[in-house]
Formats: sequence, structure tokens, C-alpha cells
Amino acid sequence: MKDRFLFLSRYVHFLKQSHVVACYHSLRMIPVYVSDDFLLIIKKFTNGNSLQNVLDSIDFDRQEDFLSTVKALEFAKILINSVADDENALGYYLGLLGKPYPHLAYFILTERCNFRCKYCFIKNQESSDYDSENMSLEIALKGLDFFCLLIAEDPKQFELEKTIVFYGGEPLLNWCVLRILLTKIEEYIQNGKLPKRTILNMVTNGSLITNEIAEVLKNSNVQVSISIDGDSFATNSSRAYADGRPVYQDIKRGFLVCKEAGMNIGASCTLSEASISDFDTTIEVLLDECQITNLGFNLMITGEDKLNDGYNERAAKFIINAFKIFRERGVYEDRIMRKVTSFVESKVWLFDCGATGGNQIVIAPNGDVGVCHGFLAKRKYFPINVFDNDFNIHDDSDYKEWSMRSPINMPECQECFALGICGGGCPFQSEIEKGSIWALDDRFCIHAKMTLEWLIWDLFNKMKK
Ligand code: SF4
Ligand code: SF4
Repeated sequence: MKDRFLFLSRYVHFLKQSHVVACYHSLRMIPVYVSDDFLLIIKKFTNGNSLQNVLDSIDFDRQEDFLSTVKALEFAKILINSVADDENALGYYLGLLGKPYPHLAYFILTERCNFRCKYCFIKNQESSDYDSENMSLEIALKGLDFFCLLIAEDPKQFELEKTIVFYGGEPLLNWCVLRILLTKIEEYIQNGKLPKRTILNMVTNGSLITNEIAEVLKNSNVQVSISIDGDSFATNSSRAYADGRPVYQDIKRGFLVCKEAGMNIGASCTLSEASISDFDTTIEVLLDECQITNLGFNLMITGEDKLNDGYNERAAKFIINAFKIFRERGVYEDRIMRKVTSFVESKVWLFDCGATGGNQIVIAPNGDVGVCHGFLAKRKYFPINVFDNDFNIHDDSDYKEWSMRSPINMPECQECFALGICGGGCPFQSEIEKGSIWALDDRFCIHAKMTLEWLIWDLFNKMKK
């Protein structure tokens, strides 16, 4: 069938390295590596061309080779039979948007914190007279029921994994409520109000963890993630107690207590300038001293810390280099693994956080319920309260808007080679920096593009071996 007409997909991108070109369809996500002298020939399909015509333009002894390349390009949807194939692909993914349903619930157990981290995106949104509250037991239990009601609305999605995150402020400042909430959650898992696959997570600064708390958290299967940014210099340069005392030793003690209780501990590491300036030390602290098994890197959000030029690129590079070490040591880093999984499975990643997609509820200490904890202090995109019984998430304008906020649906993203892998970064950052959740999160764009480029060539180098 050499007389077929073929078109170059509008989603194709070409990345060149020495004499090799990686042809990459941003939605199909299967790279095809060709010799660079094939590039001009492949481009002959840009506005449609017959395969026979193109073959006739090549030396006879290379035609077989080119035909097998065409086969690979067709499999990767880089060469398509009709331009409608592109529209259909986009239409398919657009059809997956706009379906809010919560898989994730944040309990803001308190807005209070014993630390004052310069970069805290929650605290930095609060006005000077903001009244930070603790969540009462009544609100916590009502919030749990509210989440259970929402997830029960769709029986098909009910059994899918759900995650409950205990968050703050510093959640352990409200330990007495958390402790009872944990018992209730266990009861709900047993009686089927929550699915068996309910993951519990807590993000803490670690300073208040005692042996007794660690024991309870371990027995309740809470995955604890302690925030630490590297060594004492990196950590103390952005973080301190409310009275100004340094925090590093107490954070480290938190790790130790959890370790002694036999817990697998994760870390939440915010990549400040100080953390990324000393790669080896930051990695050593995380892997050897804290012995973490999983972690999430956070890019700096606009705050008090001044970022030097090139921060985004250096942070992205830091994450890639760290990943090279983590994969050897079996450590899971969430941010890059989302990209790796999407790439390896050639699966479009529509949303990079639970808020986008409308897949998350955030329960404030007073029971207000919203989409994203970044907007907690301003109560923006907080349309409801746990005491309102007739909330329909599908009809809510905030949830509807956030459930559509994906690069797939953003004009500025359509030509980007990271379209399928990216998920769109953090809309909260977009809004505080550029005034709209629909603007690009520039920090994240750089991370997504650099990571994808690295993944494409890493795969090529592996295939060569
Ligand atoms: S929008 Fe940003 S701050 Fe809000 S949940 Fe998503 S990643 Fe977090
Ligand atoms: S958000 Fe940035 S990296 Fe992601 S698809 Fe859009 S332009 Fe590309």
C-alpha cells in the first residue's frame, strides 16, 4: 500500500542530538528515533503526500529502511491517515475533562503553626489580622461525613483509591482531634463508608512528633512526610520557630523518632536557593541521614525568598539529577515520577494536582470547603461548608472551572511538546503571579520541558546499550 496518502500530525515535535532526531507526538508520547538525514524526507508529509511519491525521492537502497521508519511513525501517530485523526485525539482528551469528583480530601486541622517558614504559601496569603483557627472535633467528623457523602455519589469511582491528607499549619498542634479522627476513619473503612484503598497522609514539620504520636501514626497506617530542605544551613535559612529559634535539630529529631518507631518516612523538600546550591549535601541528608523512602520536591512559590535568575532551570536540573540517584536506590520522588510514569506508559497526564480536575476537597478549620489550600486564607474557590447538605459538585461553578483546567484545554499549550506529560503545574501559582488560574505556571513549564527532553534522550541511550 505504497500509494497511501499520509499527513504529518500537528502534534509532532523534532528534537535533535548530534545525528539523531527524536520524532515525538505530544499526545501519543512514543518517541521514534531516526537518522537526521531522514528529517527532511519526513517533513515532505507536512501537508499530506503519497508514500510512493516520497519513496521515489529517496535512493533505492534506503527505501526499505525508510519504509520501516514510516511503520514506526504511523504506530506513534506521527504520520496519520487524515488530519481528522488529530482532531479526534484532542476531542477524546477534552471529553475527559469537566467531571469533578473528589479522590482526595485535605483536612486543615489547624491554620496555626509553631514555625514561620519564609516560603509558606499558606501563611504568606494571610493578612496581618487573619484569625488562624483550630479545627474542632465536630467539624473534623462532619468533614469526614461530607467527604464520604461526595464519594458515595458515584459508585463506579467509589472503590478507586482515595487519599486523606492531614495538613496545616502544623497538624500536630491539633493532635487530640487528629487522634479521634483516625479512629473514625478506621471505623469507616471497616464499615464501607470509605473504600478499603484509603491512603492516609500527613505533612508535618516534624518538631512535635513524640514516641507516643509516632506509635499511633504507625498503627493507623499514616504515611508521614516531614518537611526538610537539606542540611542545617539550607533548612534554617528559610525556616525558623515563630520566636526565631532555629528548627533543624528538632526536624531531625522528628525523623529519628519515626525511624525508631519503625515507620517508612517521606520528606517534603522545598527547593530553596540554599538547597539546590549544594546538591550532594541535600541528597546526603535526605537519603543517608533521614533515610527517607519517598519524597516530593516543591518548587518555590512566590514568597519572601528572592529567587535568583535561572532558579527554575537549576531547580529542574536538580530534580532530574536527584532522580538518577533515587532510581538506583529505590527512592520514589513524586514530582518526577508522575512525568516518568506518563512517559513510560504513554499515558496523557491531564492534571498535575488534585485541585485541577476538581478531584480534591480542602476542609478549612471552620468547615468551609474549597478546591485548593493555597486559597485558604482568602477563601477563594471555597464554595461550600460541611454543614450544607445539598452540595452538588457537578453544578458548582468553581469545581466546574477547575475541572477543565488542563493543558489539553489551554490555547498556549497546544504547540508545546510537553502537552501530554505536563498536567499544567500549579494554578494557584499562576493566579498569584499572573492573576488567573488559566495562566501558565512558568516554573513548572521549565520543569516539564526539561524533564521530558531528558526522558526522551535517556530512553535513547538505554536503547543503544
Ligand atoms: S493549585 Fe497549586 S497549591 Fe493548589 S492544590 Fe494544586 S498544586 Fe497545590
Ligand atoms: S503548562 Fe507549560 S509545559 Fe505544560 S503544556 Fe503548557 S506550555 Fe507546555
